[in-house]
Parts: sequence; C-alpha cells; structure tokens
Amino acid sequence: MSEPKPYSADRSLYGKLRRRLARLSHTRPIGMPRISRPMLTMSFDDAPASSARNGAVILKSHGVTGTWFISAGLLGQDSHMGPMTTGDDIRALYAAGFEIGCHTYGHLDCGRAMREDIDAAIEENQIVLRNLGIPVPRTFAYPYGDVSPQAKAVVDKRYLASRALHHGLILPGTDLNQAPAVGIEGDEGERVAMAWLEKAARTPQSWLVLYTHDVRKAPSPYGCTPEVLNRIVAKGVELGFDFVSFAGGAERALMAAPASEAA
Ligand SMILES: [Zn+2]
Repeated sequence: MSEPKPYSADRSLYGKLRRRLARLSHTRPIGMPRISRPMLTMSFDDAPASSARNGAVILKSHGVTGTWFISAGLLGQDSHMGPMTTGDDIRALYAAGFEIGCHTYGHLDCGRAMREDIDAAIEENQIVLRNLGIPVPRTFAYPYGDVSPQAKAVVDKRYLASRALHHGLILPGTDLNQAPAVGIEGDEGERVAMAWLEKAARTPQSWLVLYTHDVRKAPSPYGCTPEVLNRIVAKGVELGFDFVSFAGGAERALMAAPASEAA
C-alpha cells in the first residue's frame, strides 16, 4: 500500500447519494447540554512526519492539544506529502499528550469497502499501534471522508466519534458518527479556516474540527505552511476557544445535562 492520494474517492452521483444516505443510518446525535463555550479541535490525517514535528511544536507553543489520525500502513513511507510519520514520531506524539486516532491501516476508502474489510483494516491498524505502546484509539476519521452505512455500522460499535470531511460545525443534533470538519489545505485553506473560526466563535454551543496533512514550507495541496497553522491556532486562542482533542470534545459533547436541568 503506497500513497493515500492522489487516488480520489467516488465523486459520481452515486457516491454523493451514498454519502447522503449514510447520513440517515447508524447515527449518534448529540445534545451538548454542557457546552457553553465553543470547542476547537486541531487534527492531522494519515499523517506526514512534518505534522508530527512542525505541527506538534506549534500546538505545544500555544499550550493546546490535538489529534493525529494515523494510517499505520503508511508509516515511514515517502509520499507526495513528504515522508510519513515513523513509529517514534507516533510514540512522541502520544507521550506529549496528543490523541492518536484511527484512520484504517491502509487508508481504506470505507465508502466502497465491504463491512468485513473495514473491520479488518481497523484491526490491523490497532495491532501496529498497540505494538508501539499506543492504547486502542477512541476516535476515527474516514479516509477520503468517504462514508457508507456499512462503515458507520462498524465505527458505531468501536468509536466515541468519527470524523468525515463535509464542512460544518458540530452543533446539538449533529451525528457524531459522521461529524463535519474543515480543511486547512490548498491556496484557500487559511481563508476558509479563518471564516469558520469566526463563525464558530459567534456560536457558543458549537464545536469546530479543523484538519490538515503536511505542515511544511512548500506544502502539498492537502497541507499548509507552519506560518498558516500558527496563525490559525493563535486566532483560535485569541477568540477564546476551548481546545480539545477529538475524543475530549466527544466526551464533553456526550455528557448529560446537569441534574438540576434534567427534569
Ligand atoms: Zn487520510
């Protein structure tokens, strides 16, 4: 298994309909009764070594957390996003308190895969992570953002929350088995991410999840520069966001209302 891209997920009308249909199945809608200050999650997919090195340094410099969604089958490989993380990078991220989430072993397109194959790709990923001393991930990100009812059936049993790639804020009623996210990628990445930050900052009961891939001087179309990432995190801090890992945000979003309000 080599590069996660430029293979692209199913962009056909059928693919679109499948993703829409998937929104109706195996849902985990949340109430968020205890959320009164917007939450923000910084996440990194696949993941290129530059995200584990440059990206982690930037998050640490602001004292905030984040989540890395790892496809262990890509470990140490070269890619158009630069070299991928090594086992040592992942151990260092975990030791620094960052969350390690699951992204399947071989970056499997879960939109078109069979249920058994999705399950196997998750199991295989967990075995590699376990051998690195990383606990079983509590959250998941769909490779290519591609979703299907059978994929949701699998992740519903295994994870607290699963992230897709359609734009949006997580709000009361949002399905945590197919959560929206906004990419910091390409020429428009910074502008788009900043616009969503502003929107989320005006919505007290919300949770914004941002993602990117490589973080380096000349990023791929799926990544951003260290300067852009730094400006976005600084803006999040300035706007008063509550930075959470994806699992940490899910835990809070799923908390029941305080007893006094339960009646
Ligand atoms: Zn990916």
